[in-house]
Amino acid sequence: MWLSLATTLLVWYWWLPHAPLWAGFYLATLILMWVAQRYAKPIGHIWWCYLPFAVLFAAPFMIINYLSLRGIDVGWLWEVGSCLVLAGLLWMVHFGVKRQRAKTALLKSEARIDELTQLNNFRVFNEDLLTIYQQSQISGTPFALYTFDIDHFKGINDRYGHLMGNQVLEAVATRMEVVANHLGYPDVRCYRTGGEEFSLIIPQIVPSIKQAEKIAWRIHDELGALHFVSEAGQPFQITVSLGEDRSRSDDQNYLDVYNRADQYLYNSKRAGRNTVTINGQTLTQR
Ligand code: GH3
Ligand code: MG
Ligand code: MG
Repeated sequence: MWLSLATTLLVWYWWLPHAPLWAGFYLATLILMWVAQRYAKPIGHIWWCYLPFAVLFAAPFMIINYLSLRGIDVGWLWEVGSCLVLAGLLWMVHFGVKRQRAKTALLKSEARIDELTQLNNFRVFNEDLLTIYQQSQISGTPFALYTFDIDHFKGINDRYGHLMGNQVLEAVATRMEVVANHLGYPDVRCYRTGGEEFSLIIPQIVPSIKQAEKIAWRIHDELGALHFVSEAGQPFQITVSLGEDRSRSDDQNYLDVYNRADQYLYNSKRAGRNTVTINGQTLTQR
């Protein structure tokens, strides 16, 4: 849209007879167009900003037209008409920018937020993990990563339908965020890292296996306490398998901790599911 507007105006300015300074006026219009898009919000929303700006925006156009006409009276209809065209152009710039910004913001958020659960997606997880890893390397304070997977989730889809499966994922995400907000650590972040796999990062922790176990069981128990009812009225619950590990001072890569936690999650699966593995130890009792 920008290019077409700028090109139309360029042709118009260039086409006007007896206007040797047309390039300067054109430049002024381009600058005003830039101002209009840069400050679209205040200009578009506050009338006492919009009106003077509209006059200013129209000025180079009107002046060059006046100069070009060399005093020939073109009549009020033409003058009012050109004013209206200019006002229209200004609104096009304003709304074009507004729409573009809304679209960009939506695209940005869609690229980072999982649509179903509204949790951060794997892309954000990856970025956050790198940032938190780097901060932890500098500060020397470890961070913890919990990752869990819903057991036999395919069976839930098969038995109760895909939509029910989606409801389970939404409920898990909501409960996960509630748990995360009540762990007593600031800045705990939750992610949907895969289909029915979720992760949680606690950026700064006091390294304690007991504490890690407590948190792991809490996540495990809170999700296991969720109650669902299928469309056919059948009640059911879920279980999860979880893996946890903390960053280590000798970690070489930000993904090391994720690889370990993920490996521990699979240890929990191999041990029969519905359990947690902390620091390589699969727990059978708490
Ligand atoms: P396990 O205990 O070994 O994890 O078994 P599982 O059945 O949970 O794991 P599996 O990998 O066999 O199946 C995962 C299923 O999750 C398959 C896939 O269709 C389903 N799934 C992935 N994403 C979604 C989703 O967004 N909605 C629903 N309803 N299902 C999903
Ligand atoms: Mg699963
Ligand atoms: Mg899985």
